Amino acid sequence: MTASPVRNSTAALQAADARHHLHPFTDHAGLAAKGARVVTRAEGVRLWDSEGKSLLDGMSGLWCVNVGYGRADLAEVAKRQLLELPYYNTFFQTTHPPVVALSEKLASIAPAGMDLVTFAGSGSEANDSIAKLVRYFWNLQGKPRKKTIISRNYAYHGVTMQAASLSGLTAMHPQFDLPLPGVVHVEAPYWYAHGGDLSPDEFGLKAARAVERKILELGPETVGAFIGEPIQGAGGVIIPPATYWPEIMRICRQYDVLVIADEVICGFGRTGNWFGSQTFGIQPDFMTMAKGLTSGYIPMAGIMMGGRVAETFRSAGEEIVHGFTYSGHPVAAAVAVRNIEIMEEESLVAKAGGEIGAYFQDQLRGLADHRLVGEVRGVGMIAAIELVEHKPSRAFFDPKRNVGTQCRNHCFANGLVMRACRDVMVLAPPLSISKTEIDELVGLAAQCIELTARDLGR
Ligand code: PMP
Repeated sequence: MTASPVRNSTAALQAADARHHLHPFTDHAGLAAKGARVVTRAEGVRLWDSEGKSLLDGMSGLWCVNVGYGRADLAEVAKRQLLELPYYNTFFQTTHPPVVALSEKLASIAPAGMDLVTFAGSGSEANDSIAKLVRYFWNLQGKPRKKTIISRNYAYHGVTMQAASLSGLTAMHPQFDLPLPGVVHVEAPYWYAHGGDLSPDEFGLKAARAVERKILELGPETVGAFIGEPIQGAGGVIIPPATYWPEIMRICRQYDVLVIADEVICGFGRTGNWFGSQTFGIQPDFMTMAKGLTSGYIPMAGIMMGGRVAETFRSAGEEIVHGFTYSGHPVAAAVAVRNIEIMEEESLVAKAGGEIGAYFQDQLRGLADHRLVGEVRGVGMIAAIELVEHKPSRAFFDPKRNVGTQCRNHCFANGLVMRACRDVMVLAPPLSISKTEIDELVGLAAQCIELTARDLGR
């Protein structure tokens, strides 16, 4: 059956969408008044909407399309797998070739010692699973009181009950009576906003020691794990000072607290290594993986484990009563393997950590002189531009002025997807972006920041 052209008009799609579709993270009164943006296709680093307008996607969708759009290879692998074995589960001592291949592949690229993986459907599910596995680990160790998880302000770990509780973006809690008990938050290593007169390195130590103070306050015998994104993404691309993660590692080892690195954004090349843990000197006990695992072509997440955690589960001597229908889905696993191979064949991780990442960061640093820009920061293929009211004092705009949203709207109107987290403009383009496309991206970003400054009368 072919849909009629009228049925597919932008207005008809918007009307049906507003009537029947509850969107994530959307104000529906606003959406109904304006109509959703209808995205219809994509290729490389570009999207097209239903009116034929093209947009340079500076965000890789939601930080996930690491190999770029339009990879026929990934579609072919999925088609082949759909025909050969579209579904089978990995429960009850069963496996299939794609999930074996993916597990082996992940063990080969993960930080040293991490060699055991289990699968989920999303980053939220994966973090939820890790919270259960932390409990199980300490139960197996005979330390059933070691259960509290320490997280941080500005953290984003997903939206399930547990993952939203772990998240530290305060807007995520009141609508749902969260956080759940057993989760506490401490300050983030956000030097630009909270560093005051300290140097970044001094502040990195101070922020890490907030974790130590919390462990001592709660009692080390009650703290099971610390969770952190190597770079806090949705919180505003908060890059920790160099002193932060080594001090976190010292503290967590000293008090026998497990370290969970949420690599949902940083994983699969974003920071110039396969994992953010490698960039920042983190030796995690658990790693959360999603997004770049399949470049977003199909949903899949993974939980990577190593060392004593892996050994404890391998030798538990009983059934682990946990797992999803779609854990290790064969089509998703086949796509993930091919996605990782593409990254290897095209040296996308090396480029993000080398020439392309350096070019992206250098070009963006040119925006730091703009009168509205307080700081440009980034690593590899992830970056943030802080829009501020007063540069010397690092003073932010009143949040009610929605300066970041204004800038984001200029971006959409001018052909660029750049996201606003508060008044921090964030970028995470596909790792496959070319230098010419980076020039275009940075030019558009500069133009939209200037338009925002003029709106503000500055
Ligand atoms: N952790 C991090 C660091 C994330 O950025 C996200 C998603 N933005 C999640 C977890 C949750 O992933 P999902 O949306 O797939 O549930």
